[in-house]
Amino acid sequence: MESSIQLGKVMGIPIRLHVTFLLIIPWVAYLFGSVSANVFGKLYGFGAVEPPIIRWVYSLVFAVLLFVCVGLHELGHSFIAKRYGIEIRSITLYFFGGVASMEEIPRNPSMELRMAIAGPAVSGALGMISILLYAQSESLLGKNHPFSILLWTLGIMNIILMIFNLIPAFPMDGGRVLRAWFSTRMPYVVATKNAAALGKIFAVFLIFLGLFTLNFLTLIIGIFLYIAASEEDRSTTITDSLSGIKVRHIMSKDVKVVPPEMSLSELMRLMFYEKHRGYPVMVGDELVGIVTITDLQRVPESLRDTTTVGDVMTRNIYVIGPEDEATAAIKIMGDKKIRRLPVIEDGRLVGIISREDLLRAIELCSDVRL
Ligand SMILES: [Zn+2]
Repeated sequence: MESSIQLGKVMGIPIRLHVTFLLIIPWVAYLFGSVSANVFGKLYGFGAVEPPIIRWVYSLVFAVLLFVCVGLHELGHSFIAKRYGIEIRSITLYFFGGVASMEEIPRNPSMELRMAIAGPAVSGALGMISILLYAQSESLLGKNHPFSILLWTLGIMNIILMIFNLIPAFPMDGGRVLRAWFSTRMPYVVATKNAAALGKIFAVFLIFLGLFTLNFLTLIIGIFLYIAASEEDRSTTITDSLSGIKVRHIMSKDVKVVPPEMSLSELMRLMFYEKHRGYPVMVGDELVGIVTITDLQRVPESLRDTTTVGDVMTRNIYVIGPEDEATAAIKIMGDKKIRRLPVIEDGRLVGIISREDLLRAIELCSDVRL
């Protein structure tokens, strides 16, 4: 995603900021600069801090620190994941919080439980540390000093973050804890479906709450959670319906190939008659590229007689083996945003697998098993 900026790396994990995040920092600063409440008899929010310049500087510092805490929460998950050998691609901070992008998590309930708990545990620890520091600051500077207010507000917010994330609704951490617990008692797909159903109920509740109280943020979070819960449900169903299915079961064995010297006009006719949208490009026995209808469409019609397949094909090709799992093919296509993969065995092209092949397999398998 190009809509995010990389800040740096922590534990070898790239930390990114999404553009929406840049809008939320001033907004959070504004919210906490406008509110002043008593929480357990202590000032929460910077609304009462004078003069205004000090108020807004503290609010801004607070907003940044709050999102540092959100980042640390994600690092908590990632730290445990890394110990189990799971690769973390990146952590991105969005307006609603952080998201750690990682490779697929193996279905191990005790591991999933530890990973899910790690984030809220970090938030809880940060909350406790802030509150302990507040106690120090209160005796040194007084409880209405902006620095004391900063520590107290940060402490309360981290405790709220911990509690919110432990709500047992997918895709929150609490939902993962719940799935881990369910999946020791029932098949993984059923456990996911149940946890996702609870997540959707909670999301719908938030959507209504947002509508009735005209709270835009609650509404947006509700919608986001609903989509995320549905997505988790869907991807688990797909992975499960294809479990045990190998690439060779669903690939097309009868592969049509084209030579790099073929002109694009000829390629266009071939695509039209054979109704294929892409071909492997071969020189003798060697696979040298892939050409698709998208490559063809980039060349204006008047130049297609004089342009060859070799000029426009993609040389950077991803391949898969016939004995690989079909879900591995889905993952590569999703990650690399491609629609077909040549299947290679002992250096020889033995087939091709496309998104359509996979979709058909998902359709057939989920009918049979679910
Ligand atoms: Zn979390």
